[in-house]
Amino acid sequence: PFDVLVVGAGPAGAAAAVYAARKGIRTGIVADRFGGQVNDTLGIENFISVLKTEGPRFAADLEAHVRHYDVDVMNLQRAARVVPAEKPGGLIEVHLENGGVLKSRSLVIATGARWRNVNVPGEQEYRNKGVAYCPHCDGPLFKGKRVAVIGGGNSGIEAAIDLAGIVSHVTVLEFADKLRADAVLVDKLHSLPNVTVLTNAQTTEITGDGSRVNGLTYRDRVSGEETHLELEGIFVQIGLVPNSEFVKGTLELNRFGEILVDAKCQTNVPGIFAAGDVTDVPYKQIIISAGEGAKAALSAFDYLIRTPV
Ligand code: FAD
Repeated sequence: PFDVLVVGAGPAGAAAAVYAARKGIRTGIVADRFGGQVNDTLGIENFISVLKTEGPRFAADLEAHVRHYDVDVMNLQRAARVVPAEKPGGLIEVHLENGGVLKSRSLVIATGARWRNVNVPGEQEYRNKGVAYCPHCDGPLFKGKRVAVIGGGNSGIEAAIDLAGIVSHVTVLEFADKLRADAVLVDKLHSLPNVTVLTNAQTTEITGDGSRVNGLTYRDRVSGEETHLELEGIFVQIGLVPNSEFVKGTLELNRFGEILVDAKCQTNVPGIFAAGDVTDVPYKQIIISAGEGAKAALSAFDYLIRTPV
């Protein structure tokens, strides 16, 4: 059995594996796809001390760092279920989709999250070519340009307020008949001069010139009329879904499906820790996930030395 088993190998899982291995304890990492969301990222310009890198390069660097240590790496494996130990100090089981079972004295869950897509023609084609999901990451790339934000919930309106300070104009498209964000955010949004809000607006297509986004088409759900907007960027803000389905019923989740953790990354089950985008820790970012992963591994180590077998 492992002392620390990490599930997920994005920035959080990789950091947890490196921190655990450096304690000289038996460490394993099992993941569906090494690198996680970073693989889908074009440029990364906000990982402090790295001025600029590319997503796939960053993912390869994460893997190289983990493999530099004595870590059992199990890539292309999905966890299906977690069975907690019968008593603290006992073995926790991770059942894989392929039928295998891994056992460990402690567990770090770092399975990340995925952005919900609008699923209209053009979205996949122009992903990273004008279609973006993270305003903190990609906002500055659209300085002085026209952008749209799809989604009028809290994350959409926060994004629109943030972007309005950088870009020339923001159009917010909300499917429902009114914005769903908190009133204080909506008031702030309405005070900005370079924002247009469209409600009852169903995005039907993202258009481009073959290499980059040049606009979007939406249908007015009341009149049925279709309109094409010319713009250079589209931020999709209709939800971030945590990859926590496999621990539902085992660990305590909030209403968004995020695993609840305390300041030491502990879940409600002794010996099981969680880190990164899959948790309720705010601001889903690489540097934050990596820091949380380090913290979870140190907490797991602390648990191991304090818990008799
Ligand atoms: P993830 O990166 O999501 O990794 C999760 C890991 O768990 C993966 O290895 C996955 O395969 C694995 N996994 C999931 N489910 C299972 C399972 N059941 N069994 C086994 N393994 C599983 N952040 C920035 O700071 N800067 C940026 O510029 C930036 N740009 C972004 C651009 C895009 C397009 C996207 C999508 C995100 C961007 N982000 C950026 C956000 C950043 O990528 C995430 O915050 C970060 O990757 C989260 O790390 P994580 O380790 O928590 O999860």
